[in-house]
Amino acid sequence: MNALPQLRTLVEGRVLLPSDAGFDAARAPWNRAVRQPVAAVVEAAGADDVAAVVRYARDAGLAVSAQPNGHGATGDVDGVVLLRTGALDHLHVDPAARTARVGAGVSWGRVQAAAAEHGLTGLAGSAPGVSVTGYTLGGGLSWFGRAHGWAADSVLAFEVVDADGARSRVTADSDPDLFWALRGGGGDFAMVTEVEFRLHPAPELYGGRLLWPGHLAPAALDAFRRVTEAAPPELSLWWTRIGPPGGAPLVAVDTAFLGDATAAKELLRPLEDVGTPIADSRAPMSPADLGTITADPTDPGPGMSRTRTLTGLDGDAAAILAEGPVDPLLLLQLRHVGGALAEPSDTPLGALAEPYLVYAFGLPLSPEAAAGIGDRCDRLFGDLGDRVGRRRPYTLLAPGDSAADAFTPEALDRLRRIKRERDPRGVIRANFPVLG
Ligand SMILES: Cc1cc2nc3c(=O)[nH]c(=O)nc-3n(C[C@H](O)[C@H](O)[C@H](O)COP(=O)(O)OP(=O)(O)OC[C@H]3O[C@@H](n4cnc5c(N)ncnc54)[C@H](O)[C@@H]3O)c2cc1C
Repeated sequence: MNALPQLRTLVEGRVLLPSDAGFDAARAPWNRAVRQPVAAVVEAAGADDVAAVVRYARDAGLAVSAQPNGHGATGDVDGVVLLRTGALDHLHVDPAARTARVGAGVSWGRVQAAAAEHGLTGLAGSAPGVSVTGYTLGGGLSWFGRAHGWAADSVLAFEVVDADGARSRVTADSDPDLFWALRGGGGDFAMVTEVEFRLHPAPELYGGRLLWPGHLAPAALDAFRRVTEAAPPELSLWWTRIGPPGGAPLVAVDTAFLGDATAAKELLRPLEDVGTPIADSRAPMSPADLGTITADPTDPGPGMSRTRTLTGLDGDAAAILAEGPVDPLLLLQLRHVGGALAEPSDTPLGALAEPYLVYAFGLPLSPEAAAGIGDRCDRLFGDLGDRVGRRRPYTLLAPGDSAADAFTPEALDRLRRIKRERDPRGVIRANFPVLG
């Protein structure tokens, strides 16, 4: 007999089963290219609901996947109970202690707005709609990662529900193994209901986008290389070729700098040699406006991406990236990493040795388009050859990748041991399971 309807008696939040109106909308992830064949959706009203769902799933022999939004959806949710965490939306900033405590449904945009009021910033990435929890469980690659490391490096504590449905507070002292795994090993080890983390001073911030016509891509890449080779950790740059469907190609350099405009302009001087820009949005800015730099899409839509690290940017690599068509990609991007991200970190991701990341993104609007994007990425990474690193950040893994692509063999072994110990029945399912 189907026991799923029993879920409704166990939780306060809304439960949607396949026969319910609204089920398809409730199970759809932010990335609309991904289908989610889940058994049920539970919109948790609070941490007690999370615990009740986990206990139910354990007893019923099902798995549970937490999914605040589904920016990182992979579709590996066949028959699972999908747990929406949007109602866990409490947020508390302590300006004196420079910390924040947020519920599992809170997005970076809300944290940044609250922190900015006190001249502080969290280690947010480019998209304000991404949840702090999903992002941080995968390590979290921030605009300020070069200065302060992975977002996970700044975590002080997690409130969790374990695979038996028991609640606890996890810190470096209370449970070193689980604390380590949660700081970048993904969502495979416990259901997180709250994260507490350090904020960082940001009394002044400068950032924005310089945009040129696409034929200036090689010149913009050369200037990007010159700036990044001398950049202090406070400065982060991304170089992006943009191929708008049906429009003229463009190239952009995006900047975020933890400092004032005068110092930023001095560091960015090589960009003045590129040519006449079409637009320049660089200006002093608030940490609350980080999302305006790249203006990532906020509405759900289909996307397909591939990410690789790059060991260096020699002339041949530059030609491979800057010449030839962008199409069928929408974005071909190079992100400068390094700095604190290259330093030892007691997290599963550890040090990211490579100085650059290549991020390729397209719109898989049809199976043919998806195949074309995949082929273009294969060619691109094939042409880059042994300049491509073996690992890539967990948050930037994409369907088709596995958790093994993010970790050293030693870190993966430790994560697998922790998973087997903490969740022997496989009740908790991450988007990229460590045992998968
Ligand atoms: C436009 C865009 C921009 C992005 N920019 C960046 C960036 O700058 N830097 C970066 O690092 N990443 C970036 N990402 C990737 C993003 O961080 C990941 O997709 C991440 O998974 C967070 O997305 P989400 O909040 O939608 O989480 P979801 O996709 O909803 O969840 C992802 C996974 O996190 C785990 N999880 C989430 N909540 C919980 C919980 N409460 N308990 C246990 N496990 C949980 C689950 O395993 C879940 O499958 C970007 C993604 C997009 C689409």
